[in-house]
Amino acid sequence: MAIDFTFPPEVEATRLRFREFFQGTVKPREDGLDPDRGDPDARAKLVQAVLELRGDAKREGLWNPHMPPAWGGLGLGPTAQAAVSSEAAKTMLGSYVINCQAPDEGNMHTLLHFATAEQKEMYLRPLCEGSTRSCFAMTEPEVAGSDPTLLRTRAVEEGDEWVINGHKWFISGARGASFAIVIAKTDPDAEPPQARNSAFIVETSNPGWHVVRDIESMAGSHNHCEIRLEDVRVPAEAMLGGRGEGHKLGQVRLGPARLAHCMRWIGQTETALDMLVDRAQERFSHGSVLADKQGIQWMMADSALELYAAKLMVLHAAYKVEHGLDFRQEVSMAKHHVANTLWRVIDRAIQVHGALGYSRDTPLAGMLLQARWSRFADGADEVHQMRIAKNVIKAYEAAGTTSAATGGLPI
Ligand SMILES: Cc1cc2nc3c(=O)[nH]c(=O)nc-3n(C[C@H](O)[C@H](O)[C@H](O)COP(=O)(O)OP(=O)(O)OC[C@H]3O[C@@H](n4cnc5c(N)ncnc54)[C@H](O)[C@@H]3O)c2cc1C
Repeated sequence: MAIDFTFPPEVEATRLRFREFFQGTVKPREDGLDPDRGDPDARAKLVQAVLELRGDAKREGLWNPHMPPAWGGLGLGPTAQAAVSSEAAKTMLGSYVINCQAPDEGNMHTLLHFATAEQKEMYLRPLCEGSTRSCFAMTEPEVAGSDPTLLRTRAVEEGDEWVINGHKWFISGARGASFAIVIAKTDPDAEPPQARNSAFIVETSNPGWHVVRDIESMAGSHNHCEIRLEDVRVPAEAMLGGRGEGHKLGQVRLGPARLAHCMRWIGQTETALDMLVDRAQERFSHGSVLADKQGIQWMMADSALELYAAKLMVLHAAYKVEHGLDFRQEVSMAKHHVANTLWRVIDRAIQVHGALGYSRDTPLAGMLLQARWSRFADGADEVHQMRIAKNVIKAYEAAGTTSAATGGLPI
């Protein structure tokens, strides 16, 4: 029987090592550090805690798990990384402490894949060491982010330089980043439209790079910035990947990055379900604890069913990435399912906590507000559904069965 749902011993050992570090070292340091809870010094304390904990992670050999050893990492494959990221997400700071935070994690993979040797030394090396941060600038307020062929940011060739002008927003981590990977239109008439954009590395010290504001979202201000690029001049060597490869780069980046999000969301979902059950077991109403009520048990059962399916989907998608198989359909399905599961399970946990769940006395309110963006960022629900449906039709037309589009599993 070839199907084995246990991790190989070395992956399980890695997962447990990270788990112990997150629960034993990181979590106790997080107490009272939530910047949304009113302490004006909370952010400074948070940064200090991350710096100290990063030292611990490096000393314990838990740094950069997603990067190859040549880049100071542990060289974990996607499945092992799934296990680590989901453990990290059960704490507030876990991803930052091991240098796996978005968008740097995705940018590291992108640079590893597309950068020249010189670009890697200049930008990837310090990112891997944790001495710099970065951002990824694609989305624009004026056009639908769901369709990057519509981007208006223009890069025009002048001699051996490129001059970039444009307007971006929701650029995560922009404040404090030392460089950005910017997607801009270089060839407006190229066919297909996917060949019109290119990627550039832009240093944020460039005089044309302006952070307009840290956008206040429904969850507060979390360094998702509006940016103006005004006559940003960069040398020809600043292009990342080939001319016209901006769309391809975005796709290569987004596949594993979506999966990384899914892994973190699974950790969050499990935390919410744990809290739901914990509260239901001790809250007493109408003659028994909530856990004895069928209406509450249905919430537990639905959440468990959805979370179980989420874990299987993510592990299967990670397996396909790891084995070099076409993973696009599985990653789309996993991203859609996990994002919606996250939202529903946190909402149920809030329901069971009543007023306490609505308050800021538990992390649930903040988790719900954060969860909302998961259903439209990195591919909106409807766009994933559109792609999933196209693949279902394609599979049916090719083989007279939709089987290949539902995981291609042998059942
Ligand atoms: C917290 C957060 C962090 C982010 N970080 C970054 C970042 O670091 N860098 C970056 O470049 N961007 C970032 N984004 C932007 C994000 O990638 C975009 O929000 C996303 O791509 C959607 O684009 P949009 O907001 O322009 O929505 P639109 O494209 O305008 O879509 C709005 C809605 O229209 C519907 N829709 C769109 N297309 C279709 C379709 N074909 N069929 C059916 N319905 C459709 C969907 O319901 C969708 O939710 C971030 C966003 C958030 C909220």
